[in-house]
Amino acid sequence: MAEVTVIGGGIIGVSCALALQREGVATTLVERGSIGGQATFGNCALLAVSEIVPLAKPGVIGKLPGWLLNPEGPLAIRPGHLPTALPWLARFLLNARTHRVAQICHHLGAITAHAQNDFDDVIEAADIQNIWGKNEVLYLYDSRQQYDTDRLSWQLRANEGHQITELDDDTLRDLEPDVDTRGKFGLIAHGWRSFTDPQRLTRELSEHFSELGGEIIIADIKRIEMGSAKAKCLHLLDGSQLDVDKLVIAAGCWANTLLADLGIRIPLAPLHGYHTDIADSGVSLSRPVVYASGGFVNTPVESGLRIAGTVEIAPLNALPNYRRAEVLVEKAQRHLFPGLTHTHGSQWMGARPFMPDTLPVIGPAPGVADTWLAVGHGQLGVTMGPTTGKIISALITKKTPAIDIAPYRADRRYT
Ligand SMILES: Cc1cc2nc3c(=O)[nH]c(=O)nc-3n(C[C@H](O)[C@H](O)[C@H](O)COP(=O)(O)OP(=O)(O)OC[C@H]3O[C@@H](n4cnc5c(N)ncnc54)[C@H](O)[C@@H]3O)c2cc1C
Repeated sequence: MAEVTVIGGGIIGVSCALALQREGVATTLVERGSIGGQATFGNCALLAVSEIVPLAKPGVIGKLPGWLLNPEGPLAIRPGHLPTALPWLARFLLNARTHRVAQICHHLGAITAHAQNDFDDVIEAADIQNIWGKNEVLYLYDSRQQYDTDRLSWQLRANEGHQITELDDDTLRDLEPDVDTRGKFGLIAHGWRSFTDPQRLTRELSEHFSELGGEIIIADIKRIEMGSAKAKCLHLLDGSQLDVDKLVIAAGCWANTLLADLGIRIPLAPLHGYHTDIADSGVSLSRPVVYASGGFVNTPVESGLRIAGTVEIAPLNALPNYRRAEVLVEKAQRHLFPGLTHTHGSQWMGARPFMPDTLPVIGPAPGVADTWLAVGHGQLGVTMGPTTGKIISALITKKTPAIDIAPYRADRRYT
């Protein structure tokens, strides 16, 4: 039996397994599908170090009805799902108060401040430097005026030490020739980078883990059986059992099913997003373009141009509404890329594991010995992966983590 078993082969679980292995801890990773095949597969692929301002911020309540009434807007709720989502939504909105937003930015920033260094460590060890995209990210607004109305967000980021360079019109025009920048306002968000494929990133990290002797088991865990005060074994779909000693739950949006076996419930919700990867787009980008006025991101990835984003609050098992992905492509063609020759591509829906306060849950499982949680990384799971892994491995090996984990504990107040 491995000393530690990690459940979930997304970026968070793989990062935890790797970090434990680097500390000399015998570790097994259990994943039921393909490594990095869920939320980790299709995200915007950004190391978004200053994307620390929550969606719920001052002013959001005024905008919410308009968004919710527009099924093609940046935030939507599936018809019929509102009564189920309401308690979570109420907590989410309570976190939009000014003092909470500043705290949330600070606590997310404490983690993302380590992201580049912690990624450098694992990427160098796995020798996959070609996973990095080329350039820092361009942030684009339809006008200077729109940027000015978003000043609070940039001030909150600046408070946490993040820097930007505002671009003059000529520099902006020459930066990405395939982007229509007329009348727009742009800036470079320093420290933001991108990956050429977030699933390949995760898969190659897991292969590195295997090469160094880590065990990966592909199995669907149906249930966790408790012993006296700790998890005893995992019951797998094929009827077999896997004994466990120490356990890390990094099961993304599905964590609550397993946590129920431990008598734990956390307010975790799936916030769905979409992408279209267009292979032959006719658009060449040397960097990701965050289109702030449209609420979506355009990233050059290995499978072409990825146009991704939007938030849809829907049940975890909801079928995709690919109209939301099409809307993003239409907006991209209309507002950004006049040369977008193909608008069809491979479409994807995936769910961000989201807590109402936008902070991840990283720390010991309340009331259960030898079990730790690494879930709820929301909009920033890729960015926070290796740092979360290091925190979890420090806690398990009884070292002091680089960051105080109090704000991320599962038994915190979520408002
Ligand atoms: C549209 C969109 C854009 C995004 N853009 C970015 C971005 O640019 N930058 C960024 O940092 N983040 C981004 N994110 C967020 C990021 O993708 C997620 O936070 C991150 O992928 C979550 O990783 P995870 O490992 O927690 O979850 P997942 O990747 O979902 O992994 C959880 C894994 O657990 C497995 N599992 C669950 N239950 C069981 C079980 N019972 N038995 C076995 N296995 C199980 C699942 O199969 C799954 O593979 C974006 C998300 C979306 C949707």
